[in-house]
Amino acid sequence: MALAGTALGCTSRLHAATDTAVRVTALGDSVAVLSGAGGNATYVRGPTGPLLVDGGSAAGSSALLAQVARISGQRGVSVLFNTHWHVDQTGSNLAVGKAGGRIIAHANTRLWLNTTVDSTWQKQQFKPLPKAALPNDTFYTSGAMQHGDQHIEYGHLLQAHTDGDIFVHLRDANVLVVGDLLAVDAYPICDYVTFGWIGGMVDANKALLAICNADTRIVPGQGPVQTRVDLQRQHDMLVILRDRLYELVKRGYSADELIAAKPTQDYDSRCGDPLLFIRNAARGIAQHQRQIPGVV
Ligand SMILES: [Zn+2]
Repeated sequence: MALAGTALGCTSRLHAATDTAVRVTALGDSVAVLSGAGGNATYVRGPTGPLLVDGGSAAGSSALLAQVARISGQRGVSVLFNTHWHVDQTGSNLAVGKAGGRIIAHANTRLWLNTTVDSTWQKQQFKPLPKAALPNDTFYTSGAMQHGDQHIEYGHLLQAHTDGDIFVHLRDANVLVVGDLLAVDAYPICDYVTFGWIGGMVDANKALLAICNADTRIVPGQGPVQTRVDLQRQHDMLVILRDRLYELVKRGYSADELIAAKPTQDYDSRCGDPLLFIRNAARGIAQHQRQIPGVV
């Protein structure tokens, strides 16, 4: 099931490994989304060199960085954010780090990238990255910076998709990069191995809704640019599914019994196969039982 070097994307649908051309979607004069090299990468022009939020997969990195060089007219990447540790986001860390770039991530993301992760749900073991590829500028809560014409704010979203998820908000362009906290026409997956869970995913979606407005362009980890309406729709679905799953877990349902109960069936026509979503949600809930109302 797992494809070498590409993981499963982070939605419940497979995203094929890509060596095709990297597509560019402009979001203004100095901001663009580059897609087709693993997860989405968001580009910001700047006088010291390009800034990227996420760097695609290792397999797609060369094509991604070549496209960045083409659209920027500059070599290299001066700043790279990792929205979380997954391989579809951190594939350019080595190239950027080796060249002396600044790699910004939450402290937990650096911890995962610096250890072996046995991912039971991805059926894959992820080895530590070389030292040069590790984030070299970590934070715990939030931060801000100026890059070219963009004032950039970023912050941690606690335990949601993983325990190191961050948003990156390009204030002047009104672009909000959210990594895998928003899935397009798919169920968002909680990576319980690195402490993501559905309760935290709901909270993270709520926090993101408070940051954006009706005009905000939201860049998800995979797929086309979204709007606040899309994020609200996912949030509202997750609130309902979280509460249904809590209720069934309180009744003692196992993961297989949860699946048999079809708690997602009114969303499956849009979001596809719910199996991975439910299985991972069940594992995450089991890890957070004390935070569930009515469970002591
Ligand atoms: Zn992910």
